[in-house]
Amino acid sequence: MGIVVQKFGGTSVGSGERMQNVAGIIQRTLARQPVIAVVSAMSGTTKSEGTTSLLLAAADAARKGAPFARELELIEQNHFKAVGDSVRDAGLRDGAKQFVTDELSRLKSFLEAISVIRELSPRSQDNVLAVGEKLSARILAAVLNDRGVKAVNIDLSQVISESETAVNPAFFQRLQGQLGEKCRPRGDEVPVVTGFFGMVPGGLLAAVGRGYTDFTTAMIAAGLGRDQADELQVWKEVDGIFTADPRKVSSARVLSSISPAEAAELTYFGSEVLHPFTMERVVSANVPIRIKNSFRPEAEGTVIAPYSSEQAGRVTAVTVKRGITVLTITSNRMYNAHGFLARVFGALEQHGVVVDLVSTSEVSISCTVERLPEPDKVRSALEQLGAVEVTPGRAILAMVGEGMKFASGTAGRMFSTLGAAGVNVEMISQGASEINISCVVQEDQAAAGLNAVHDSFFGNG
Ligand code: ASP
Ligand code: MG
Repeated sequence: MGIVVQKFGGTSVGSGERMQNVAGIIQRTLARQPVIAVVSAMSGTTKSEGTTSLLLAAADAARKGAPFARELELIEQNHFKAVGDSVRDAGLRDGAKQFVTDELSRLKSFLEAISVIRELSPRSQDNVLAVGEKLSARILAAVLNDRGVKAVNIDLSQVISESETAVNPAFFQRLQGQLGEKCRPRGDEVPVVTGFFGMVPGGLLAAVGRGYTDFTTAMIAAGLGRDQADELQVWKEVDGIFTADPRKVSSARVLSSISPAEAAELTYFGSEVLHPFTMERVVSANVPIRIKNSFRPEAEGTVIAPYSSEQAGRVTAVTVKRGITVLTITSNRMYNAHGFLARVFGALEQHGVVVDLVSTSEVSISCTVERLPEPDKVRSALEQLGAVEVTPGRAILAMVGEGMKFASGTAGRMFSTLGAAGVNVEMISQGASEINISCVVQEDQAAAGLNAVHDSFFGNG
């Protein structure tokens, strides 16, 4: 059988007990097929208190010449405690603790140097960030060893050659091959890999951003390809991807499958499923992704795999994005004229405004934006082109589903449902791909609208 690449998020390895749990998951999988385990830095339930965030805070403090001892102490405490709680053999435990001590003292000297030069280059920041995943990978390897599983710790933080200067598709293509090769299990050893691959030209945060472990894992799975890797499993703290956010819709249920395009839409709408770059990479390599819950390993989870014709007609999920502002520009000059839209978008572009939905009529254009960096400047730039209306306090309600392409009446049902629930629809947009039908509603009606549409398409329990 092929390899299963398993990614464990920060919360899933957030304590000694959680590490034990993950080791159990790996062991059970190993009974059937080879595993590559990839880990994020240890984290609590809130990302802002996780190791990566503490490391970033320490680096930032060092750059300003401010103290960073508290962050390092917290990191040390958390990791010592995790080792103490999860590794029983004294030799293995001491080895893991020594690793933590050595890494952190190296980090301390590094940060001291930063606070002298008061400068944090992207490369230096990557060096600091790498520590989080180095520690968690080393500890998980020790936990596995302690349970009699052969495991080796693989550090990807130095894999990128210094001759690489640009981040582009060819760079990632080369790198994915390298990562696949480096992480491939040798014999019966489980590679326990840092979910961090530095030093990317320009820095990992600029090239990939937070949540880079998903992407690291995707690169490994894609590098191995479908002939070596059976599945990429992303172990999180939720049962999978839901028909709607279960915190907002009590009847929401887990989807057994979703297509990559659908998952990408949901990610955009803020139900962060996976790091956005992840899917593309793995799916183009034909490796299915499965989201699993490390707190409930027996649950099937959700598979992200190409759309199949059995899903024709299906609405996959309903979602809401809050904090939206609508901009409307009305001008008679738009009528029968060319270049008007170009001028509107040119003005928005100049002020760094990110546009989501767009809808036009003969004399006006409306678009939704998430943030207006310079509201007054944007307004006066647009006022050169026509009458401007800025309407904050809106939300986008969207239905997502590739199967909607093959159904009629879906949009009609969505809007009549909203009408019956007393939710006023202010703007409508259906993406050209028919995978998404979106509308703008008042933010304070978004929850009611979401529940009404969900009940209509999925039933209410
Ligand atoms: N530890 C990193 C972060 O918090 C990477 C990850 O969790 O995927 O962003
Ligand atoms: Mg993560």
